[in-house]
Parts: sequence; C-alpha cells; structure tokens
Amino acid sequence: MKNAKNTRIETRAIHAGQQPNPENGALMTPVYFNSTYEQTAPGEPRLGYEYSRTTNPTRTVLENALASLESAEWGLCFASGLAGIGSLVQRLKSGSRIVASNDLYGGTHRLFNKCFGQFGVQFEFVDASDLSQIEAALKKAPTDYLHLETPTNPLLKLVDIEKAAKLAHDNGALCVVDNTFATPYLQRPLERGADLVVHSLTKYLGGHSDVVGGAVMGNDPVLREEIAFHQNAYGAQFGPMDAFLVLRGLKTLHVRMDRHAENALAVAKHLEASPLVDRVIYPGLESHPQFDLAQRQMASGGGMVSFELVGGVDAGVAFCNATEVFALAESLGGVESLIEVPPIMTHAAIPAEERRAAGLADGLVRLSVGIEHVDDLLADIDRGLAAAKGATVHGDSVVERASVRP
Ligand SMILES: *Cc1c(COP(=O)(O)O)cnc(C)c1O
Repeated sequence: MKNAKNTRIETRAIHAGQQPNPENGALMTPVYFNSTYEQTAPGEPRLGYEYSRTTNPTRTVLENALASLESAEWGLCFASGLAGIGSLVQRLKSGSRIVASNDLYGGTHRLFNKCFGQFGVQFEFVDASDLSQIEAALKKAPTDYLHLETPTNPLLKLVDIEKAAKLAHDNGALCVVDNTFATPYLQRPLERGADLVVHSLTKYLGGHSDVVGGAVMGNDPVLREEIAFHQNAYGAQFGPMDAFLVLRGLKTLHVRMDRHAENALAVAKHLEASPLVDRVIYPGLESHPQFDLAQRQMASGGGMVSFELVGGVDAGVAFCNATEVFALAESLGGVESLIEVPPIMTHAAIPAEERRAAGLADGLVRLSVGIEHVDDLLADIDRGLAAAKGATVHGDSVVERASVRP
C-alpha cells in the first residue's frame, strides 16, 4: 500500500511500512539474510546499509511498521524485550535514577537491580497505580526515567498514563511505558504523553510463541540517535528471520486481540462465579478497582487474567497440573492458552519478601488466555477448579521451590 499513514490501526497492522517489491511485485517483505552491503565508493553505502548489526532492511521495515502502530516517529528492534529496555538504561550514567513500578515483569526487575545496579544506577520501586507514590518518589531526587507497566504483570494494576507522564515531566523525568500487555491495538501511551514505549515482541506482537524480540518506540530524534548508538554498540540486535516472523504476526494483531479479550472476559467471569476463587483480577471486570480507568485508557481488558484460589498455593499448583488446553508455561501473548504460578515461575527472581510486599500472593495463578474456542477454555477451567477443590492448604512450598531457581 502506497501510504498507510492515515488509515486505521487494523489497516496499518497489515500494511504500514511495507511496499510490494518494485522490481518483481513480491507482496511480502523479503528476509535479508545478509551481514554486509556493497558500497558505491569507500564510505558510501547505498541507502545507509553497511553492516547488519547496525541496520538490516527486513528489520527496518518492522521498525517502521511498529512505529506506525504506536503513533511514534521511530522504532528500534532488539534481540529481546529486555535488550530493548536495557538500551534505555545504557544511555544513562552512574548515579542516574529510575523510579519504576514495584509490580514489574520479573526479568526487568532483575535487569534493573542486579545488572544496572552494579554500575551505580539507582532504582526506587513504588506502587505506580497510586499517583501520590510516584510523585513522592520523583520529588525525592532528580530522576531520569519513570518506568511503568500498565497493566502490570501479574497483578494487572493500571497506571493513569496521562497523569503519570505529567508528573514525570513536571519533575524533569522521561516517562517510559512497557506496553507489552496491552499492545498498541488497545492502548497507545505516546498519544497520552509518554516519551518512550518498550515492547517484548515475544508476546502479542509476535503472537505465535515462535520468536523472542523487543522494540523501543519514540518521537524525539535525539533519543533515537542515542538509543540507536547503544543498539549498535552493544550488539543485541534482532535477526532478519525474527523480524519477518513479527511482521507476519502483526498482520493479525487486531483480530487476535479481539478474540483474546473476548475469551479472557468469559474466563474471568466464570472464575469469579466460583466459590473456590478468592479474587479474580481482570481490567475488563467491573470488580477491577480501576475499571473506570481501564474503560478510558484501553480498548478492552486484554488477554491476561490473574486469580487467587481460596486453597492458596497448593490449590493453585493442583489447578495448573489439571488443565489440558491451558499449557503450563511461562510467557504469554501467543494464540495458545497458557497457565503459570508467577512466584514459582516468571517472578521467582524477585525476593519473596519484596514479592509479597508488592501484593503478589504465593498462590496467585496467571492465565494468558488464547484464541481457542471459549467452550473448551471454560471446560478446562472447570477441570482446574475440580482439582483445586481436592488440594489441601499448607505451608510455604512455593517459597522453597522458588529459592532453588536460578
Ligand atoms: C516478557 C516481558 C518482557 C521481557 O521481554 P523478553 O522478550 O522476554 O526479553 C518485558 N516486559 C514485559 C511486560 C514482559 O511481559
């Protein structure tokens, strides 16, 4: 398509940044398995392509497509979501400060504290669903980034992006939003004042559990230059085949997200109706404490549901062991349904005391609701509930299991 710029997001998901090949008409973007490029004269590469760590044509197409979806001026792709998030911190200096949600993706928490903490970057973690906590932390000391996830993982708390971005700017900080859970189809943080958006492409954007990747999007050309410098200098770049897979995944983003959300709402309501379930957390449920904000900020509740069983840890483990459609696996955002116990799996890297202080109960169960037929999903939930009913409540088995994980 010649100019997808003024089309709706559903059209841009398929066409943005992509043109048929002018020589042969091929509709799909070729995979440029290519490390180096012939120059027309010494130091004069064609179209700027010199070496594929720096830039690769397949990756460029994906970067432009992602920028279009997020209403951004530019996008940069990385070997993983964490490599993208890391690139933002790499442009800071020792003594810089980041205020972040305390309910972060476990790997981001580990990257911040254990890796960048060693280089003297300071971190403060707050409950970012509470704007007064963000403000207090920003006022305490000069801050470089306010790093947010909304909805958070796995407690699905929301942050009011407009208000949080304003607080960041009033205090001289940039606002970064990890938009992995919502995707640009449901929420576009840059339109609400955020400065940078980060993604794990591994999740909904790739959408088929077959690729690991990350992206950073923004508007400021100076930030682009600095982040692209670190992308090239550190070399955690994204391969062309992986870029092709994400480009293909993007084409069905809107169709998949609608079905993810429809199924997730049905599953959340089904769980909420069971006496074996203590609480269900889903931004599309009226019982969600920030339901109004979800309605304003997101096009739907998305595909993630978390819940706590009355029977605690052991009931949660029994539930997970019993499901057949929901596969017991980390990660999320693929077409297939997944189930996990965050304290033992995705969030095991966060110390138990810190995890509990952030409200993450040992028995929390997280679902990534896929796009299978809803009746099969509900039958599977019933299988899990039946198993949970038989499980006994005792002790701190989750803590012991988590402590032997790397
Ligand atoms: C998975 C995830 C990441 C990390 O992405 P990788 O591609 O696994 O490196 C970051 N943020 C969120 C919210 C995630 O779910």
